[in-house]
Amino acid sequence: MAQTTAPVLTRPKRVPMTGAQYLEGLRDGREIWLNGERVADVTTHPGFRNGARTVARLYDALHDPEQQAVLTGLTPNGALTHKSFLLARTPQELLARSEAMRAWSRLHFGFMGRSPDYKAGLVVSLGAWPEYFAPYTDNASRWYHKLADECLYLNHVGINPMVDRSKALHEQKEIFVRAVEERDDGIVVSGAKMVGTAAAFTHYNFIFNYGAVPLSDGDTDHALVFIIPTNAPGVKLISRPSYEFAASRAHPFDYPLSSRFDENDATMILDRVFVPWENIFVFRDIPKTNGFFPQAQVLQNLLLQGATRFATKLEFLTGLFLRVAESNGTIGFRGVQEKLGEAIAYVHTFNALVRDACLSPDPAANGYVSPSHRSMWAYRVQAPSVYPRFRELIELVAAGGLIQIPSSAKDFASPELRPFLDQYYKGANMDAEQRVKLSKLVWDAIGTEFGGRHELYERNYAGNVENLKVETLLAAQADGDRAALEQLVQSCLDAYDLKGWTGTTWVGPTGS
Ligand SMILES: Cc1cc2nc3c(=O)[nH]c(=O)nc-3n(C[C@H](O)[C@H](O)[C@H](O)COP(=O)(O)OP(=O)(O)OC[C@H]3O[C@@H](n4cnc5c(N)ncnc54)[C@H](O)[C@@H]3O)c2cc1C
Repeated sequence: MAQTTAPVLTRPKRVPMTGAQYLEGLRDGREIWLNGERVADVTTHPGFRNGARTVARLYDALHDPEQQAVLTGLTPNGALTHKSFLLARTPQELLARSEAMRAWSRLHFGFMGRSPDYKAGLVVSLGAWPEYFAPYTDNASRWYHKLADECLYLNHVGINPMVDRSKALHEQKEIFVRAVEERDDGIVVSGAKMVGTAAAFTHYNFIFNYGAVPLSDGDTDHALVFIIPTNAPGVKLISRPSYEFAASRAHPFDYPLSSRFDENDATMILDRVFVPWENIFVFRDIPKTNGFFPQAQVLQNLLLQGATRFATKLEFLTGLFLRVAESNGTIGFRGVQEKLGEAIAYVHTFNALVRDACLSPDPAANGYVSPSHRSMWAYRVQAPSVYPRFRELIELVAAGGLIQIPSSAKDFASPELRPFLDQYYKGANMDAEQRVKLSKLVWDAIGTEFGGRHELYERNYAGNVENLKVETLLAAQADGDRAALEQLVQSCLDAYDLKGWTGTTWVGPTGS
């Protein structure tokens, strides 16, 4: 499967959809519920329209001559696509994939976690090792080419609804996604998944199983991996409160992030949804369903986008943090400088993990490479505590200044109020309008409902925090790291015994 990530010089056989085409494609009858009503059109509804436009902007960037060399490359079939969909044979190709993700993430400052490049991590796993999905090898291969060639937007749902975690899946059959009927042309599935982030904006949904406990005996009906169109009959998305909807009743000045980067989260209900055999990757196979994430290298491919986007988000928050310290006149204080230094060190750490993931990759099937699982596991374990620490650092320094904000941009329009705002809301190095603008941006990043959701998101991004540490231990057992770490200790223990030093390098108490 030869491919190129070089700047596009030849005429591609196909180009990605434009933003306008993407938006048009969302008008497909998908069933989304918000505030007791079915959303007629996500591209115009005030709870979704700006989120959809942010995604459209990403697609438009693929057509921008200034950005095309970084963002795009050719698939094996000669289609122009985002580089996140391209299989990599070299560290440089992985780095190019990450740089394309980086460029997209800068367009939303890292706040749209499930942008189309996120699930491309899964798509490349289908393409690099379709044989893992045997006997559905052809399905994996065909879907890789379709999703990559058409640069489609996919989301995933793997986590089961939080009903009763003490019971096995098959003990709650009526809740969790399962095959309820097998037909000549496919299967019928029912059940729910928690939660489809960005599902409302996607073309397809990838359904699998992941959780604190792997599937076990009795769970065969749940041992499924398949793909469905977002508008498939029987698919219902029940949205959480839309932060964009709340922000739509205010001014962008008041909610500059909620109002355009709310990617939405929705519980996905599958009510007797038909899945043709062509859309199935794993069917009633417990080991394959359990092994799908680590063995097919899906997780480390997904995490490259996660870590790249996370690093962008930390860069953005650190920039905000610096601006806040400047605006408050506190940047000269040692205690504040120490906190800024800590934030900058986290930025370096996650950027280094991304680089290492690409430049020290793991070998993958069929001669491809995947981002290093070691650096990706390190990102996965550390991000859930670093993100809350960032919020804490900013809150410690921004302090009450974050609450010293007028309720609305409209306050600045009041001639009666304006002189008081100008006098009492200015900062050390900026006027009142700029200071309030900055404070509201910081508050939307860390303090509003949108800001709070982002902490929950980064904490739970790749599994519950205990699981992802336990899985890191299991990986170290499998890849030999545990043995190597213990061997290091053994080499120290081997240097001495009850008789003294075992070698001739050091001198013992008796001088021999
Ligand atoms: C904003 C947001 C967006 C999300 N988007 C998506 C998405 O797009 N797609 C998707 O699939 N998922 C998504 N999720 C779900 C996310 O992947 C999960 O929240 C995460 O994996 C943690 O799983 P959980 O919530 O089921 O918690 P659990 O795994 O149930 O863990 C909760 C707590 O209970 C403990 N616990 C639970 N079960 C056990 C057990 N058997 N033994 C010991 N301890 C146990 C855990 O250790 C933990 O402390 C999203 C979550 C959030 C918050």
